[in-house]
Amino acid sequence: MELNAKIYVAGHRGMVGSAVVRRLQKAGYQNIVYRTSKELDLRDTVAVNSFFAEEKPDYVILAAAKVGGIMANNTFRADFLFENLQIQNNVIHASHEQAVKKLLFLGSSCIYPKMAPQPIKEEYLLTGPLEATNEPYALAKIAGLKLCEAYRDQYGSNFISAMPTNLYGPGDNYDLNKSHVLPALLRKFHEAKENNAPEVEVWGTGTPRREFLHVDDLADACLHLMLHYDGKEPVNVGTGEDLTIRELVELVRDTVGYTGNVRFNTDKPDGTPRKLLDVSKLADAGWRYKTGLPEGIRAVYQEAFQPTPVA
Ligand code: GDP
Repeated sequence: MELNAKIYVAGHRGMVGSAVVRRLQKAGYQNIVYRTSKELDLRDTVAVNSFFAEEKPDYVILAAAKVGGIMANNTFRADFLFENLQIQNNVIHASHEQAVKKLLFLGSSCIYPKMAPQPIKEEYLLTGPLEATNEPYALAKIAGLKLCEAYRDQYGSNFISAMPTNLYGPGDNYDLNKSHVLPALLRKFHEAKENNAPEVEVWGTGTPRREFLHVDDLADACLHLMLHYDGKEPVNVGTGEDLTIRELVELVRDTVGYTGNVRFNTDKPDGTPRKLLDVSKLADAGWRYKTGLPEGIRAVYQEAFQPTPVA
């Protein structure tokens, strides 16, 4: 990928897309194109086709998607399935039509079967039923990676897919009804501390295990894959390490400095019990994450809430 190549980053205002743009700029790429969703609605096939015909990007990184945490996924089930299919169908097909040299499609670790053996290897895809709470989103992402594979099979397109684990970082969503667990916990503990609240409510039993990757590390992995990976199979992107939600709660509580109680609300769903990625394929391709979780949480807390240091 030449430094003057035209790279279209779809979803550049999102947490992932903005991290990808930062990483590309840092590497010296100068010809990055993007559009806000107001300027270009990626669900609109006609608009996407004319954008591609006009811009003719050399490379595409597809980081645009409708995303959310367990509650949003489980509530807006039709929107998550339909809109994600629309966005990815439009961008992938237009990339084919305009003979884009290489496209990277970003999926998610929720594509794997709920009861997949751990850590999850890429080849476990489609070997069992999905977790119900995010099945619509997962189905869209599976269709996306299969569409990339199909264009490769039928037309020889160099369309690759990466499956990141749970992400966090700058630009995350802190709306408690839509967010993922890590930003939700940061906000809940921060506000409880500010307001001297006696208790913080955490969803589920605290026993599910999750893996977390800083989005800047994902962006670095995306560049690595654009430069060094041309395979058909999706590639997992994660740390290869996980912890329980209860352990995460303690980590966030310590970072924020909240000393009140924690109550686990078991009326709320746990989601999948565990989804630890096997990252050996990416390790074999020469990539490893850099940001440890405690360090990453401290940085994100500072960035999002700018707490005044304890005297
Ligand atoms: P998931 O990885 O797709 O299940 O998405 P989430 O990041 O939304 O949830 C991960 C786990 O954290 C689930 O077991 C949730 O029940 C749990 N969790 C605990 N407290 C919260 C919270 O305040 N918000 C969210 N989104 N999840 C929470």
